Amino acid sequence: MPKMPGLSRAAMILAAIGPSIFFVLATQSETTQESTPLLLAVHDAPIPFTGSDGRTHLVYELWMTNFTSGEAEIQKVEVLGDGVVLQTLDQAAIATRLQPAGQRDSTGTMAKGTQSLLFLHLILPSGAQIPQQLTHRVEAHYAAAPPTYQHVTETGGTVTVDRREVLQIAPPLNGSNYVSADSCCDATRHTRAALPINGSVYLAQRYAVDWEQLDADNRIYNGPREKLESYTIFGKPVLAVADATVAVVVKGQREQIPGKFPTDISLDQADGNAIILDLGQHRYALYAHMQSESIHLQRGAKVKRGQIIGLVGNSGNSVAPHLHFQLMDSELSLGSNGLPYEIKDFQVTAKTPGTKAFDEAEANGNPLALTPFTPALAVKDALPLDQLIITFASQ
Ligand SMILES: [Zn+2]
Repeated sequence: MPKMPGLSRAAMILAAIGPSIFFVLATQSETTQESTPLLLAVHDAPIPFTGSDGRTHLVYELWMTNFTSGEAEIQKVEVLGDGVVLQTLDQAAIATRLQPAGQRDSTGTMAKGTQSLLFLHLILPSGAQIPQQLTHRVEAHYAAAPPTYQHVTETGGTVTVDRREVLQIAPPLNGSNYVSADSCCDATRHTRAALPINGSVYLAQRYAVDWEQLDADNRIYNGPREKLESYTIFGKPVLAVADATVAVVVKGQREQIPGKFPTDISLDQADGNAIILDLGQHRYALYAHMQSESIHLQRGAKVKRGQIIGLVGNSGNSVAPHLHFQLMDSELSLGSNGLPYEIKDFQVTAKTPGTKAFDEAEANGNPLALTPFTPALAVKDALPLDQLIITFASQ
C-alpha cells in the first residue's frame, strides 16, 4: 500500500475500499476528509443582470454526479451567497429543476453513476448586494449506503459570480404587441437547452427569446394556420441591436410551412436563415429563422444600431414565424455560452397566462387572454422576462 501521510490506519483501510464509503473518515491530520457521494460543480458562473421586473437575477446550472452504486434522492438544496442562505429548494422544487444529462424531463432522483443538471434561478431581494461567491448545501438520501449513512449533507459547487459588464442593446424589433416567448428564466425550452457540441456541453440559448407578435385581437395568427402571411410577425423588420460587424450569414433556406416542425433539418440548418453580429468584446448576437431573400448583408459588413438587417421568417427548425434572438460569447450559435443583456428602453403592456396558453394560442390561433398592466410599465436597461407583451419604441 502506498504511503498516505496524515491518514490514520482506519482511514487508510476505508480509503482502500473505494468510492462507496459514506463514513466521515477518522484522521489524525488537520484536514478532515468527508465522503462526498455527490460531486458538485458549476461550469458557467452566473452573470447577474437586471430583469424587466427591476430585480437582479442569476441563472446557472449546478452539475451533480451521483458517484455511488445506487439511487440518490435529492431532498434539499440551499444556495448560499457569501455564507448566507439565498434560496432553499425543497424536494418538490428540485423535482422540477433537476434533469439527467441529455434529457428534457426533470426528476428529483438520480440513478446510480449518473450526472444531472440542477437549473437554478436566483432573484435577489430589492436592494440586496450581489454576492461574490456562491456555494451549495445539498441533502440527499443514498440507497447504496448502510442504513446509518444513507442521509448525507455536503457542500460544494463553489463559484465566483461573474461580474463582467452586461451589454446594453437596442431592441431587435420595432413596434408593439410583441411576446417574449420562452424567455428567461424558468421557461425550459431555451434556459435548459444544454447541448453537447464539439466535445463540450453548452447553453448558448440560456437567455434566448422567441419573439412573437399579436394582432389587435391578441392572436398570433389570423387566417389559415399553414400560411406564412397569417402570422402577425411575419415580414417584420429585424434590427441591429448595436453598431456591429456581421460575423456570420446563413442564407438559401426555404420557408417552412407553419403548424408543424420540419423533420429533415440538420444541426447546421436549425437556425434557418440567420445573421450573427459581432458586438465586440466576445459578444455576439444571433437572429434566427429569417427570410432568405431579405438578407443582403455579407460577412464583414458594418451595421449601425437600428439598421434593418432582414425580415422575420419561418426558416429552419421553426413551427411558426418568429424571431429567435440571443447573445452568446462566440460566433457559434450552439457551441457557445449564452450571455444576458439589457434592452435600453421598452414598455411592458401586459402579460400572458404562461407558456401553456401561449402554445395553445400558437396552435389554434385563438386570442391570448392577457392581463394588462395599467399603466404600462416603462422599463430601462433590463432583460425582458418570459411571456410579457412588449412595445419597442424606435431608438
Ligand atoms: Zn428559439
